[in-house]
Amino acid sequence: MKAAFAQRDAEKSYGLDGDLLTPVPWTLPVLRLAWNAAKRDVAPWWDECSKEAYSAGLDQLARALKNFTDSRKGKRKGRRVGFPRFKKRGKARDSFRYTTGAYGPATDLYVKLPRIGRVKVGEPMGALTSRLADGRERLGGATVSRTAGRWFVSFTVGADRDVPERPTRRQRTGGTVGVDLGVKHLAVLSTGETVANPKRHAAALRTLRRASRAYARSKPGSAGRRQRAAGLATIHARVANQRRDGLHKLTTRLARSHDVIVVEDLHVAGMVRNRRLARAVSDTGMAEIRRQLTYKTVWYGSRLVVADRWYPSSKTCSGCGWRNPSLTLADRTFACQSCGLVIDRDLNAAINLRHLVAASTSETVNARGADHKTRMSGRVAGKREPGTAKAGQTRSAGAQVPAA
Ligand SMILES: [Zn+2]
Repeated sequence: MKAAFAQRDAEKSYGLDGDLLTPVPWTLPVLRLAWNAAKRDVAPWWDECSKEAYSAGLDQLARALKNFTDSRKGKRKGRRVGFPRFKKRGKARDSFRYTTGAYGPATDLYVKLPRIGRVKVGEPMGALTSRLADGRERLGGATVSRTAGRWFVSFTVGADRDVPERPTRRQRTGGTVGVDLGVKHLAVLSTGETVANPKRHAAALRTLRRASRAYARSKPGSAGRRQRAAGLATIHARVANQRRDGLHKLTTRLARSHDVIVVEDLHVAGMVRNRRLARAVSDTGMAEIRRQLTYKTVWYGSRLVVADRWYPSSKTCSGCGWRNPSLTLADRTFACQSCGLVIDRDLNAAINLRHLVAASTSETVNARGADHKTRMSGRVAGKREPGTAKAGQTRSAGAQVPAA
């Protein structure tokens, strides 16, 4: 994958060589000019790679530099953004992107990638190619990336989608549902339903724990450590895929069958110092369930409400509102000392999340701070809304290119 390395080299030559203190706006056109002027000297092999690789690298660099300067001038919200760093071989995600040229699915089974050629994919792309063929979707770019030793190609596609103004589905039964993500189970709903983890998930988690320990014991810098790191990455990817698949099935069902879905907010980085695997797994799950529900609620005309991150959904009694501040992660059952309710911990949390919507009337729309009661997203009503769907996980095909 010469292109990926070339991209990094492109970033390298312009991150440091340029005089950082001069107020030159390092915009994409400026970076392009500079690259074109210097490529013969710094990278004599430049024409062996697709020009897209350099272009994408420069585009990312331009964005990173803009974020950095905006952040320093106080024009950008959120955490301070540091100066762009180089990608590091073996540490960073290997990826490059095509935005122009003759890329895309050649048939259902092959993709064409400029400079690389036709590559067979591991998963047929029929769903995507038929949509492209009859114009329901348009190609907007392709990203080739490597995860756990496999190469993937994901396409960005633009599509018109009818966005319902209100819930339309006939199978929509429930009004509001609270969702608590678990570790032992995938999720517990306020309806009392427990959604089980995907099959073989527990076994994969055990393998993951074993592989993590073996990795930790290996000697830094050794061949054994490299091997174990590769093995660990494969298992991590499998666990993540299983969970994502389970979450997709769950979020589609929820967004179709309920009007309002309430989920917890993420634990703030740094707030939770609990590095346990279980916690990490459930946090990634929260981020993913939110991401999926954010667009699926729009698709199906339902609404997503994200609870305030300080809302103690687990520690509050869903029967009377009494709080148990000493509840720990190990307590699987909530026992109320005020009204005597004894209930499963996750179900209690899910019911509290559901109550949150019924109780609060003044919800604030997508506020950034943590001082608001609840946040809402989703429910964008409109006739025809042009939207892009990232085909990465759902609609495109994974291409397994033999690694060079
Ligand atoms: Zn109670």
